[in-house]
Amino acid sequence: MLHEKVVQLLNQQVNKEFYSAYLYLDFSNYYESKGLDGFANWYKIQAQEERDHAMLFYQYLHNNGVAVELDAIAKPDVKLETPMGVLQAGLAHEEYVTSLIHQIYAAAQDEKDFRTTQFLDWFVKEQGEEEKNAQDLISKMELFGNDPRSLYLLNDELKTRVYAAPSLVL
Ligand code: MG
Repeated sequence: MLHEKVVQLLNQQVNKEFYSAYLYLDFSNYYESKGLDGFANWYKIQAQEERDHAMLFYQYLHNNGVAVELDAIAKPDVKLETPMGVLQAGLAHEEYVTSLIHQIYAAAQDEKDFRTTQFLDWFVKEQGEEEKNAQDLISKMELFGNDPRSLYLLNDELKTRVYAAPSLVL
């Protein structure tokens, strides 16, 4: 039996991950509208990954006999103004998600819920990678520059990202 507090946070995380998917779809939407199809591709795949994350939390709850309560997904609330600004918003969002995962981890630890901490270990590592990926995009744009020619080159690189299913299977 999972503790009520832990269940509440895991359930909330289903919604937060779907929100992340929705937010990154909006990022993709922004870049697509600017003709940056590589950036759009990168964030469309990111949105798919976030949906996978949501489903992992969903399945973990069901595997432990808990039905999920599906809440409304909020409207993406980030102002998308410049190609670099969007990347920075992406990093800030991942740092926020890391804080959410750590919050659930701490609650599970308080309850000596080692099944949940073990489940969350994958997400702790994943968040390290997500933050690094977001930071790498910013660093590359800083390095290349923000002019059309540089954006074109970085856009070409980001076209090559392909979707891969999460390595965690429940
Ligand atoms: Mg996620």
